[in-house]
Amino acid sequence: MINCPVCNKEFKSHYRQDRGKYQIHCSRKCNGNAPKKVVTKKCVQCGTDYQTRKKNTKFCSRQCTQEAITVKYTDNELVYLAMINPGYGFRRFVTALYASRERAIPKCIEVFNKAKEMGMDPYDCLQDPSYMRKVDVFEYLENHLALPHHSGGTGDRTSLKKLKEKGSRGNRRLKDDSHIEFNWGVIEPREW
Ligand SMILES: [Zn+2]
Ligand SMILES: [Zn+2]
Repeated sequence: MINCPVCNKEFKSHYRQDRGKYQIHCSRKCNGNAPKKVVTKKCVQCGTDYQTRKKNTKFCSRQCTQEAITVKYTDNELVYLAMINPGYGFRRFVTALYASRERAIPKCIEVFNKAKEMGMDPYDCLQDPSYMRKVDVFEYLENHLALPHHSGGTGDRTSLKKLKEKGSRGNRRLKDDSHIEFNWGVIEPREW
C-alpha cells in the first residue's frame, strides 16, 4: 500500500505493463490533477530558454508571441501570397498563415492597406467572387457543415441530415470557395 501524492488516500499500487512501472496516483482523476512537469524550452522568437508546464507553447512571453506575428511573414510576402491566391477569402487566408487568426488579422489589414496606397489591392484579390463557384445546398453543407447565416442558416450542424430527410435539394445556389487550395508560390510555409 502507498499513499497517493495528490489526495493522500492509501491504495494498492498496480504494476502498469504499458508504462513499465508501478502506478503513482490512486486514480485517473488524481493523475490528471498532479502538477505537470516543468520543462525548459527555447523561445522560437527571441531564443531565450524559458520554463513551462504547457506542451504546445513556442514563445517565452506574450510579447514574443506578438512579435512573432509581426515577423513571421514579411509585408512583401503577405502581399505576394494574397495576390497569388485570388478568391481564397481573407479570413481563410489569415488562418492558413497564422496560428492565431484574431491576432494576425489587424496585421494583415495594415499591410494590405499600405499595398493599396501603392496601387495593389490584395484584400480585393482574396475576396474576388469570380473565383467562387455556385453549388447547391447539399454540396455546400458537405463542404462547410453549416449554412451561412445570410442564407437562412442557423449554424446548426444537423441541418444536412434534416435536409436529406426532407429529400429536396432545392434550387438555391450558394457561393462556395472550398475548392480553392492555398498556393504558397515560392514561399516556404513557416511551422510556428
Ligand atoms: Zn488520489
Ligand atoms: Zn521570447
